[in-house]
Amino acid sequence: MRAYDIIIKKRDNIELTKEEITFLVNGYTSGEIKDEQMAAFLMAVMFNDLTKDEIYNLTMAMAHSGEMLDLSGILGKKIDKHSTGGVGDKLTLLVAPIVAACGVPVAKMSGAGLGHTGGTIDKLNALPGYKTEIPFEQFIDLINENGLSIIGQTGEVAPADKKIYALRDTTATVDNIGLIAASVMSKKLASGADSFVLDVKTGEGAFMKKVEDAKKLAKTMIEIAHQNGKKAKALITAMNQPLGFAIGNSLEVKEVLEILERKKEVRDIEEISLELAANMLLLAEKGDIEHCRNLAKEALENKAAYEKFILMIKAQGGSLEMGEAKQKTELASEQEGYITAINAEKIGIAAMMLGAGRKTKEDKIDYTAGIMLSKKVGDYVKKGETILTMHMNNVDIKESTKLAKEAFTIGKEKPEEITLIY
Ligand code: URA
Repeated sequence: MRAYDIIIKKRDNIELTKEEITFLVNGYTSGEIKDEQMAAFLMAVMFNDLTKDEIYNLTMAMAHSGEMLDLSGILGKKIDKHSTGGVGDKLTLLVAPIVAACGVPVAKMSGAGLGHTGGTIDKLNALPGYKTEIPFEQFIDLINENGLSIIGQTGEVAPADKKIYALRDTTATVDNIGLIAASVMSKKLASGADSFVLDVKTGEGAFMKKVEDAKKLAKTMIEIAHQNGKKAKALITAMNQPLGFAIGNSLEVKEVLEILERKKEVRDIEEISLELAANMLLLAEKGDIEHCRNLAKEALENKAAYEKFILMIKAQGGSLEMGEAKQKTELASEQEGYITAINAEKIGIAAMMLGAGRKTKEDKIDYTAGIMLSKKVGDYVKKGETILTMHMNNVDIKESTKLAKEAFTIGKEKPEEITLIY
C-alpha cells in the first residue's frame, strides 16, 4: 500500500477502505508518512468530504493509535465533556466542579488552545504550581478522593489526533465535519469515559459557522458514540460573541472563581454551563432532566462547586496568586448606540496577539495577557466610553487594537436577545 495511491483515490472522490485509512493514520503517527502527504490528503478531504464509513474508520484508527485508557478504577459512571472550541470558553472549569459537587466523578483530560480558540489546560496552567501532568494512577486516586481532576491530554491518548490536529491548524484544514468528528471522538473514546456530553459551538467564533453544520457535526459524533456502545448528548451553543467578559488565561480563571464564589453573575456562561452539567448528570442517571437542572443550580448557588474547584486546585499544587499584566490599555467606543455584535474570532485573534494564545504550536503563552470586555451584545454605549481593556506585557498592540475595534458593531436599534442554546 502507498500513501500516494490513497491520496489519488481521495482526490478523485473514491471511497477509501478501512485498511487504507488505518495504513495512513498509523504511517503518519509513526513518522513513515510525512507531513506533505498527510497535508495533501487532508486538503483532498476538505474538497471531497469523508463518507460516513470513512469518518468512522478514521475515528477508530485514531483512537487506537495510542493507549485506550481504563477508568474502571474510578467508582461510578464516568461522564466526559468536550467543546468544539470557542473564545472565552471557560465552561469546563465551571461544569466539572458543578458535576463533581453533585456526586458524579469527573475525570477530565483537556487540550491546549490553538488558533483563535482557547484551551482549558492553558487556563489551568495560569494557576502557579498547578500540575497538569501527573501519573495516571495519581489521576485516578485524586478522582476517588476529591471527585474530580482535570489534567492535560497525555501523549499516549490518541497521538494520531495530536499530530494531525497540529498539521490541520497550519494547513487550513480544521473546519471539516468529518475531520472534527473523528478528532473529537477518537480522543473521547480513548479517554475511557462511559458517556459524553458534547458542546458543539456555532457562530462567527466557531469552526461551524452555520447551525445546520453544527447539527450535522453533533449527529455524526453521537452516532460514533452509539456505534461504540456509549451514550452521548450534544448541545448546539452560541459562539457569536465571546463567552463572558474575560478572554485570556488568568483573566478567565479569575472570572470563573468570581462566578463560582457567587460574587459575579454572567448570564451566558452560567446558562450554558448549567445545561451542560445537567445533561452530564442525566447521563449519570441522577434523575430526569428537570431534577438534574435543579441539582446543578443548587451546587452552583450553595457554592459546593466553588469548594470542589478550590479542592482540585490545591490537590494539584496550584495557587490562586495569578498576578496581573504590567500594562493595561482601554479602548473607547467611537460612537454611541447599542452593541449589536462582537465578533468572537477577531477578539480571539486580538487576545492571542497580546500573548494569550499561540501563533505557532511552539509559542509560549503569557498567562496574564488578554482582553476584558466592559460591554456585551445588547448593551448601550456612549461615545468615549470604555468597551474593553487590553492586558499585556511589552507587546506591540497596534494589530490587536485594530482587530478589537473591528470586532464591535454598534447600531441605533437594540438587538434581539441572543439565543444561547439552539
Ligand atoms: N476540537 C477538536 O478536538 N478537534 C477538532 O478538530 C476541532 C475542535
